[in-house]
Parts: sequence; C-alpha cells; structure tokens
Amino acid sequence: MEFQSLSREQLSAQLAVLNEKYNGYKALGLSLNMARGKPGADQLDITNDMMKAEYLGNYLTADGTEARNYGILDGIEECKSIFAEVLGVESKNVIVFGNASLTAMYDYIAQCMMFGAGGEPWAKQGSIKFLCPVPGYDRHFAILEHFGIEMINVPTDENGPDMDMIESLVNDESVKGVICVPMYSNPTGITYSDETVRRFAALRPAAKDFRVIWDNAYCVHHIGSKHDKLLNIFEACKEFGTEDNFIEVTSTSKISFPGAGVAALAASDANIAAIKKRMNVQTIGYDKINQLRHANYFKNKAGIDAHMEKHSAILEPKFNAVLEAFEKEFAGKGIASWTKPNGGYFISLDVPAGCAKRTVALCKEAGVTLTGAGATYPYGKDPEDKNIRIAPTFPSRDELCKAVEILCVCVEIAATEKLLG
Ligand code: PLP
Repeated sequence: MEFQSLSREQLSAQLAVLNEKYNGYKALGLSLNMARGKPGADQLDITNDMMKAEYLGNYLTADGTEARNYGILDGIEECKSIFAEVLGVESKNVIVFGNASLTAMYDYIAQCMMFGAGGEPWAKQGSIKFLCPVPGYDRHFAILEHFGIEMINVPTDENGPDMDMIESLVNDESVKGVICVPMYSNPTGITYSDETVRRFAALRPAAKDFRVIWDNAYCVHHIGSKHDKLLNIFEACKEFGTEDNFIEVTSTSKISFPGAGVAALAASDANIAAIKKRMNVQTIGYDKINQLRHANYFKNKAGIDAHMEKHSAILEPKFNAVLEAFEKEFAGKGIASWTKPNGGYFISLDVPAGCAKRTVALCKEAGVTLTGAGATYPYGKDPEDKNIRIAPTFPSRDELCKAVEILCVCVEIAATEKLLG
C-alpha cells in the first residue's frame, strides 16, 4: 500500500515496527560499506596474470622502442590503437596517459584555465561556468569547484541531460563547457540516446573556447547480456564540424587495476596538438612498461570485451541482489524509484524529497556506510535531498544483501517520519 494513503495512526504503528527492526540491526554491530565504486577483490584477481613476465617480453614495443627508458610522449602505438578501437577514433587522435583519467581531466581543465582553449585563459575571463548533468560524479564536481568554476545543474532522464536546457544555456558566453558521463553514467547507469549525442554534437555555443569533457569511463563495462550502445561522439561531430568541442577520456581502472591501469584521451587533431604542447613540458613520457603490459595482455578490443565478460559474471548477481531487494521492499509503496542499469558501477536510488540525508544517517548508525547524501550534486547539495548512490561492487554478495536489507528499512523509516511531519 502507498505510504501516502496511510492514516497517521497507521503510519505511527508502522514506524514502531520499523524502529524495532532497525534496533535489531543496530544491535548486530555490523560494519558494511556500500559507498565505494571499487571493484571487489575477486574482480582484481581476474587480471592477475597480467603481472606475469611474459606480458612484458623483452621490454620492447612493437616498433622496437625500449619500454624501460625515456621517450614516447603520447603513449606506445599498440596501446593507442587499442584505445582507438575502443573509442572508435584514429590512433593519431589518442593520447595514452598515466594511471588515471581524473588526472587527464584535471590537467586539461588546468590548461584551459591557465592558457585557454584557443582563446583567452579561462582564468582571465572573470566568472565562468560549466553545465553539470545531475545526478553526477562527485570528483568531476570537485575538479570544477577547485578551479572556482561555477556549476549549473542540468537534470537528467533516461535519455541523458535536458538538451533544451543545455542548448539554451550555451548561448551565454561565460558557459565554457559540460562535464558528463555519456555511457552507464555515474550514478544513474543511463546511456545517452542517439538524439542526445547528436544534439551535443550540434551545439553552437556562444563561447568559442567551449569544451565538453566526455568522460566515457564505462564504455565497455556491460553487465549482463543487454548492452547499451553509445553513438560515437566524434562521428556525430563530423556533420557539424564541432570535433574541437569534445575531449573524451577513459581508462582501464575498472578493466585491469584502479590506480595501476592506463588512461587515455581522444580529441581532434587541434586539441591533441595543444595538449601535447603542454605535455612536452610536463613529462618526458608516461609509464610505458604498464602500457606495454596492458597492450600485450589485452591485444585489442575483442580482448577487452572478453575480459569484461568476466567482470560482468561477478557483478551481475550483485546488481540483481540490489534490484530484487528494491523491487521486493519498495514496490507499490510510493517511496522510492531507482535505475536498472545495463552496465557501469552504480544504481541511483531516489527516496522522497527531504529523506536522503536522514536515510544515509540512519544507515550509518546501523553500521552501513553509503555514499554521502548530496555527493551526486555540485557543491554536495542535492536541492531536493532525495538521491542516494548505491555502489554494489565492493562488498561480498552476502554483505551486500544485508546492507541493502538495512537500507530498505532505513528508507521506510525516513519516509514514514517525513509523512508524520
Ligand atoms: N570517471 C568516472 C565517471 C568514474 O566513475 C570514475 C571512478 O569512479 C573515474 C572517472 C575515475 O577514473 P580513473 O581511475 O581513470 O581516474
């Protein structure tokens, strides 16, 4: 029965029962964590063989370059060509970086701030803004906040961000870009529709130094047999000649090892040249030994896809456990809605407005750590206080089931309290 149609007496009686259940959980003294979008230990084990000496051979790259020594600014060719195949671009339009795409994003924004993106340095243009599809990734927002870039929330639905809003806001010259996750988004797991991608490609912003940070972190991270497909942004741009507006990044963090993988950036010829000019001062080259190891191990996109099926086999039961629990506990109660992603690392749960912080606090008290309420919005401020990011990957399935059971009770308590005022 919908909570909204319960009488005050029924709600009070319900709250008493829920509180008793909750106190029972508290007494267990649990310590469960559903906050971190990290692979579980069993997922890390999948890639252990990559550490075998055979994947380094004689330390020479395909063109005979010594991987152990200085050189090759933009990455070894065999690694570039794997990312090129994954992202559907030419390898001349790829730069392979170090271990994290976040660094590539941070450095790119820093470059625009200090030296501009073909115009005046952003930092010299007064107050500048970025559009942020929400809910989104807290570390994106942290980078923008760090540079003092004002963030504007853009609501998202199952097709992607509100493109009418984006098309209208880019008429303001102080809007310098968008930061987004177009596939299996963090935290909703949605993939932008073809129309959304085309509308991004067709944008004609007032700012001539406008950049979309197209963070394709989850481009091969399918879960289960139904795979989303993202239109290739650079293909879409060809019709409009807007390739310079896009900086695409990805990494193997959740393919091989987070923090010990390889990151890549794809961009137009002009943007690649501008980034290389900066890099030439910043480094002599990134870790080619790790690049070589990754290239020899995965070989090509087919190698990565086969590898990702192993991740999927571990993740599918975990995602299903959460989705089944939500369906069982929330169906027909009118207190929650959630996404059912075909990939990525998260499920996005919406609880009644004003209940997310309370739910997360209740969980914490009962020993279940969730991502902080508000974290999925710029400045940590969820205007409706209703979104909670669920990260099912790190705990074991048993831990996850217990944590979700407790979470469901906490949502019901928060929703009942809210209705009781
Ligand atoms: N981008 C998104 C959307 C993410 O969810 C994450 C990690 O959770 C990252 C980037 C971090 O990637 P990397 O390890 O390559 O810095």
